[in-house]
Amino acid sequence: MTLLYTHPASYGHETGSHPENAGRIRAIEAAIEAASVPGLAEVEAPRASQEQLNRAHDPEHLAALAAFCASGGGMIDLDTVASEGSWEAALRAAGAACDAVDRLLVGDDSSAFCALRPPGHHAERSKAMGFCLVNHVAVAAAHARARGVERVLVLDWDVHHGNGTEEIFKASPSVLYASIHGWPLYPGTGDIAYTGEGEGEGFTVNMPVPTGAGDDLFTALTDHVVAPVAREFEPGLIAISAGFDAHFADPLASCEVTEDGYREMAATMADVAAELEAPLLICLEGGYDPGALGASVVATLDAVRMGGTTGGSDTSLAEPYRERFRKHWAL
Ligand SMILES: [Zn+2]
Repeated sequence: MTLLYTHPASYGHETGSHPENAGRIRAIEAAIEAASVPGLAEVEAPRASQEQLNRAHDPEHLAALAAFCASGGGMIDLDTVASEGSWEAALRAAGAACDAVDRLLVGDDSSAFCALRPPGHHAERSKAMGFCLVNHVAVAAAHARARGVERVLVLDWDVHHGNGTEEIFKASPSVLYASIHGWPLYPGTGDIAYTGEGEGEGFTVNMPVPTGAGDDLFTALTDHVVAPVAREFEPGLIAISAGFDAHFADPLASCEVTEDGYREMAATMADVAAELEAPLLICLEGGYDPGALGASVVATLDAVRMGGTTGGSDTSLAEPYRERFRKHWAL
């Protein structure tokens, strides 16, 4: 079964006419229901504990953020807004990811999808930004480490670079952060030359792609960079920061990925996870066209259930990237 985490608190994060709004969750829930996706076990997301949050974030920053929401919220920066219900929403989004880690490590289920908001991957240790308050995938990766998982691989296929996740784990050889992201694009981080720091050198794998990049390049990078790096790294958990804003219909970016592209990437990662006997945790990040978002989530869930990557992507498209990472990985 695939655990499907949701919580009504996702609707309480009020952002007004912002592209990151509760309609996104409505679209996902409606698409899953309309498609009658089999093999899903619905779980109501618990709250993340202070201990869980503190592993990825600065406690004083979290307290200030909670107090800001409790006082009614407002604009955090030009892109990022919070309301009174936002803290509860963020706690549930991070709590879902941690609970999923706990349940997946027991071994009865092999995958989980967290369909909650706000997104998380731009949130740094001490900074909320880019529609993100708490970095749920980072909190989950740190939670898995605390539970004894030696290595965690995070693949971030949101069209924007996950500067927050990179920042939180940049010096760690235990959490490998791999990202496929549009370039140039917000937030401006994610240069291919940046591969981490200190003991974490080599464990950040940034794959910026040009405007207009579509299924061909995204699947080639997943098949011929992420998958072989994962096999070499041998993670005990694979987490995906799953934004669906590289879709051709998305209003915030200019990539050309289709539902089938997401299906293919998810199938590859499901196959790699099965091969490595690592559970697969998928956390919703961006995706701002409701129809594209719903269809892409359904395609992702289908692929996680069925696996079966075609492996037919073009190695030569990935070669310029593979060449850059050979200093650290046997590509
Ligand atoms: Zn995004």
